[in-house]
Amino acid sequence: MDLDGQFDEVEQEFVTQLRRVVDREIAPRAETIDRDASFPWDNVRALNELGINGVFIPREYGGTPTSYRCILRLVEELSRGCAATANTWTNTYLTAHAITSFGTSEQMARILPRINTGGLAAVAFAESAGVADDVSSSTTLTPHPKGGWLLRGEKRFITNGDVAEVIVAFANIPEPVGDRKHLTAVILERDTPGLVIGPAETKLGYRASSTVSLFFDDCALTTADILGVEGAGYPILRRIHAKSRPCLSAQAIGIAGAAFDEAVRSTNDRQIFGQRVLDFQGVQFMFADMISKLALARSWMLYVGRLIDEYPAENHELEGSILKIAASDAAMSITTDAVQVNGGAGYMAGATVERLYRDAKLTQMLEDANEWDRARIGSSFLNAP
Ligand SMILES: Cc1cc2nc3c(=O)[nH]c(=O)nc-3n(C[C@H](O)[C@H](O)[C@H](O)COP(=O)(O)OP(=O)(O)OC[C@H]3O[C@@H](n4cnc5c(N)ncnc54)[C@H](O)[C@@H]3O)c2cc1C
Repeated sequence: MDLDGQFDEVEQEFVTQLRRVVDREIAPRAETIDRDASFPWDNVRALNELGINGVFIPREYGGTPTSYRCILRLVEELSRGCAATANTWTNTYLTAHAITSFGTSEQMARILPRINTGGLAAVAFAESAGVADDVSSSTTLTPHPKGGWLLRGEKRFITNGDVAEVIVAFANIPEPVGDRKHLTAVILERDTPGLVIGPAETKLGYRASSTVSLFFDDCALTTADILGVEGAGYPILRRIHAKSRPCLSAQAIGIAGAAFDEAVRSTNDRQIFGQRVLDFQGVQFMFADMISKLALARSWMLYVGRLIDEYPAENHELEGSILKIAASDAAMSITTDAVQVNGGAGYMAGATVERLYRDAKLTQMLEDANEWDRARIGSSFLNAP
């Protein structure tokens, strides 16, 4: 299914250039960096040479902004080659998006040019007792006796946490003034005193992306470090999630597409009992189901991307949740079948489909676990007319 005809010339050029880099450099490195769980610095450099962070940076800060659906397409393409690299890029995008949407002109001028030229960034909301919501975050932001704020607490499982130049983190103000809410977003720079980075997690999949805990040991922040206004963190978090669910879905679709292509190639190449594996009609049925799931998820991704581009002020969370369930469940099912049709060879470490199968699992639980998405969709019908 060709999705690229809908993009303008500049967008098509970004997709074409990225595809070239993915085929030549990123996909060939995927197995090694997965095995070694090493951060994909070479891939980050290759992406920066393309200037691809510019697609989510406003022109006044040096960017070449594209539509959101083009960003989804780029995430998909990158994930086809290496989902870990795509996750690193996506988290940088989400941080830039939060700062672009809610930052002051000083914050934007301080941070966005650095991201435009390749700086990495992270979003930190998750904690050991669950993800931050309007009141439950145990990370606190309290007034500093000498003015400003003190940030104290811990976040866990933060993508890019150890490589990011800038982090958007969420914390509660324990005693908000007046009718202000608790949750507040802050911007931290890597060299903020009191910011301690935990060791890298070892993961089942996405092994080359970095995932760490962050500890805030009384980090002194000023009003200039508050993103938006105090107590307005929850709408910022929701805005990030509204964009991050489709991005994660695009990762799932990229993973699923790579698994499908690999399954087609290997079942055409391999002969058993005197015929190609793909000659078995039972195997052909599996391929029909795989491509049906993939095609539907991809077309819904395009639809959601268009909705968000054309009606940016409206809430598209339900469509995003539908996409995330469809795309991540398709990725899990397609990668499972891709392992199956490869037989024992597909189960071996180093097989492409084996890596994709491990990567697919994460897409069902990130952002919100899929159960949350199902609850969000299901409960929307409770008081339906
Ligand atoms: C590799 C990786 C990278 C990550 N990167 C980041 C990052 O960059 N920034 C960040 O802030 N966080 C990040 N996270 C955290 C991630 O967002 C959370 O892990 C995710 O939201 C799930 O939360 P949890 O782990 O607390 O699971 P829990 O909330 O403990 O959920 C556990 C399980 O309970 C079930 N469940 C939960 N809610 C419901 C419900 N409403 N109905 C029915 N069942 C339910 C589901 O099966 C769910 O999987 C990352 C996590 C991983 C694994």
